[in-house]
Amino acid sequence: MAEPAAGAPARPALRSLDDALAQLLSHAAALPTERIGTFDADGRVLAEDLVAALTVPPADNSAMDGYAVRAADCAAAGAVLRVTQRIAAGSVGAPLQPGEAARIFTGAPIPPGADAVVMQEDTQLLEAPAGSDVPQVRVQLPPSAGQWIRRAGEDVSAGRTVLSRGLRLTPQALGLAASIGADRLQVSRRPRVALLSTGDELVMPGDVPPEAMKPGAIYNSNRFFLRALLQRLGCEVQDLGIVPDRLDATLEVLRAAAARNDLILSTGGVSVGEEDHIKPAVQALGELQLWSVALKPGKPFAFGAIAREAGGVCHVCGLPGNPVSSFVTFVMLVRPFLLALQGCTALQPPRLAMRADFDWPRADRRREFLRARLNAAGGLELFANQSSGVLTSTVWADGLVDLPAGQTVRRGDTVSFVPLSALLA
Ligand code: AMP
Ligand code: MG
Repeated sequence: MAEPAAGAPARPALRSLDDALAQLLSHAAALPTERIGTFDADGRVLAEDLVAALTVPPADNSAMDGYAVRAADCAAAGAVLRVTQRIAAGSVGAPLQPGEAARIFTGAPIPPGADAVVMQEDTQLLEAPAGSDVPQVRVQLPPSAGQWIRRAGEDVSAGRTVLSRGLRLTPQALGLAASIGADRLQVSRRPRVALLSTGDELVMPGDVPPEAMKPGAIYNSNRFFLRALLQRLGCEVQDLGIVPDRLDATLEVLRAAAARNDLILSTGGVSVGEEDHIKPAVQALGELQLWSVALKPGKPFAFGAIAREAGGVCHVCGLPGNPVSSFVTFVMLVRPFLLALQGCTALQPPRLAMRADFDWPRADRRREFLRARLNAAGGLELFANQSSGVLTSTVWADGLVDLPAGQTVRRGDTVSFVPLSALLA
């Protein structure tokens, strides 16, 4: 990319968000995989198709505590049957003869011959008749055939792929894997990410109390949400703290971080000021592949790579310093990139078409992400201050309104809404 002449205004060619993301993804070669215990696989990306070697449930079984019967024996209301066996979950019954019922419990296999289960609330247990030790049960209402029976294979049939490669494992998926006997899973290894904050104005909370903060100093807030976001995405984070606003210091940190990480994630120092050293440092050590995205908030975003001496590359994502810009560029660009590195196939969050209960009269030439909240009337309201420095908006919001470049909104219009819950998972 050509450098602007000294003193000339910088006019970066803005890339659309979709183009920028496509470019990032074109560099996202999948990481190696590893085999881990299913217990430890929540949030990891599956690197194999998981095929069921058995049927679930393995046999027809009872959905209720009650009595397994032959429906034909109970065609008349109040039929009385002999209770000849008891089948608990985990045991197997004997064939049921005409006139017989089996006491049965939820999950226990239906005995051969039975074709319905009557729940115990619809029965009345009777004493054994004189001279017999076989109790009897009265079935109050005629059951329909198949009633309260869970069919073999209604969840999973043997040979079916129950979980596909590229799926990001949820707690439910771990349960399903376990239901077919999978105690270990092949998953992508965790991305190794170096996190660094640039800015001589930054102070760590805890280092200086609020009342002693010097003029011009601010607390480093980005480091906190970025580390948490990375961890939620399954990354191993090497937190390199605050890097001074000097080119030599930036070069040194980037060089060292590149040697042992898959990605370096920085905040701040990525614009065009003399104190912005991320971009020249990446250019000096490797290649800058992208700079500046037509996104609001979040225009200054740098993406590049530094070749490692040991082979391969370490990617670099330079996020803007303004906290909301940093947050939005992370969820819109870095998140899908990190998921793609892990081989994940679903990179985009679900979007909802929602009614705007707000006006947005000022169109911007960049695509905008507005912090919005659901109201009780089923519409969306905006946080009053959409400035890129107002982190409160991101805590207040339920999600982001994705507003195309050049678009205004009138109350009642339908807008595209991305729930934060989908972006933070
Ligand atoms: P920069 O991108 O470095 O020009 O920073 C843009 C704005 O974001 C400035 O007001 C910075 O003080 C602020 N900023 C940069 N880094 C952080 C951070 N880690 N936490 C909070 N604010 C920051
Ligand atoms: Mg700065």
